[in-house]
Amino acid sequence: MAICSDGGASGNHRGAFPRAPGRLPIGDGSAARLRAMPKPSIQFLGAAGTVTGSRFLFEHAGKRLLIDAGLFQGLKELRSRNWDDLPVAPARIDAVLLTHGHIDHCGYLPRLVRQGFAGPVFCTPATADILALTLPDSARLQEEEAAFANKRGYSRHHPALPLYTEVEAEHALRKRHVVAYGTPAELVPGMRVTLRPTGHIVGAAFAEIEAGGQRVVFSGDVGGYDCAVMGPPAPLPKGIDHLVVESTYGGRVEEPTPISAQLERILAPVLRNRGVVVIPAFAIGRTTIVLYWLRTLMESGRIPTAPVYVDSPMATDSVEIYSRYCDELNVRKDVLEDANLCPIRTRDIQLVRSRDDSKRLNALKGPAIFISSSGMASGGRVVHHLAQRLPDPNNLVLLVGYQAVGTRGRALIEGARYVRMFGVDIPVRAQVASIRGLSAHGDSNEIVQWLKTTDRPPRRTFLVHGEPEALAAMAVRLEQELKFPTYTPRYLERVELD
Ligand SMILES: [Zn+2]
Repeated sequence: MAICSDGGASGNHRGAFPRAPGRLPIGDGSAARLRAMPKPSIQFLGAAGTVTGSRFLFEHAGKRLLIDAGLFQGLKELRSRNWDDLPVAPARIDAVLLTHGHIDHCGYLPRLVRQGFAGPVFCTPATADILALTLPDSARLQEEEAAFANKRGYSRHHPALPLYTEVEAEHALRKRHVVAYGTPAELVPGMRVTLRPTGHIVGAAFAEIEAGGQRVVFSGDVGGYDCAVMGPPAPLPKGIDHLVVESTYGGRVEEPTPISAQLERILAPVLRNRGVVVIPAFAIGRTTIVLYWLRTLMESGRIPTAPVYVDSPMATDSVEIYSRYCDELNVRKDVLEDANLCPIRTRDIQLVRSRDDSKRLNALKGPAIFISSSGMASGGRVVHHLAQRLPDPNNLVLLVGYQAVGTRGRALIEGARYVRMFGVDIPVRAQVASIRGLSAHGDSNEIVQWLKTTDRPPRRTFLVHGEPEALAAMAVRLEQELKFPTYTPRYLERVELD
């Protein structure tokens, strides 16, 4: 895989960000000095025992680096944590490092800045571009939700307030500093950081941090080895002392049925019956992969050709970002940029930007496919489409990614007969299906395959970003198959690395 080596000097946005400081040595490496060094620590401020709210505070020698600043999503008790004060004052955090641009990894950032964080925010060039889409979008959603709640009076809070505003999101964006893949940089004094691709979405990185004589790796979200669009994760470094690894699908191995066969079986009858298919999908990453498969199946005649409405301005913009960073993809740049050949656009794709055009889709008759975010139907335009289409048994809701506990997507998978939207219970009469293999996360086998790329078991592997069953299953696999000693931290737990 080609690695961006220039820190992102070309393209429309890349040159706009300040660079991270360059390569600097840490200490003289002598044994006596290492023994005397204070030990680094990690405090798990999120994604502990759950999949959202990724935030890990890495401390060493009085300096603090926050790895990811994600929003909690799903259950109300999790979402309420977004409003809690952090155990450390944001002004005392020296820098933030974002592994990628999904909201559960970066969506807390504007709140952090609003509360006094004044340092730099480091990320890869592609993530810097993605943040410019996701953070203002997240703010708009929260402002719209607060306004809607105030209008309908269904919030317990009077008035309902957004967690942050679009202006605050724009303010947070000004703190971005880009770091190229594969280039070590001392982001905070005493912490040398190297980012490498994980194949999850463009720009997604795992972070190798050298501090206090130890090598610590934070995985971020890790993709699979067999994705049609994204390339595979880069190998891990050798000699890892401590590893923090995601476990979203710790308990799951993808079924052998090819994605094309699964999609054909689910979609063909609904489209033949002139139904409407609603696909909640994260705008960044998942929409791209869904479009790739819809195009492949329509071109080969395995599903009826139907108009595809991508009801997400962000998804539309993300296709452009993908083509800008195609070094990370399995698809060539010239193919991506050719409207006829581009595998991540269907031939009859309709890109819906304005809210009025989105509302007009309410009256549209099938067959049609709507792809709209958010991926877990926890917010965004897809909620309107679900409210409109769920009561009709001719329609289908297709869930294509991980559905966290407490989200509408999870309720639908679990067979809910009603889902609450805009303060009203909507009956679920439409068909509901979910598909495996379209996830941007590697399954349990792929995570194990990735972990085997290092040379020896880390002293401790912290399992995060998973629900309790997935974390437990992952612990068993890593302990038994790889002989990795594992530990599953609790929310807000602080662990010294020795
Ligand atoms: Zn992600």
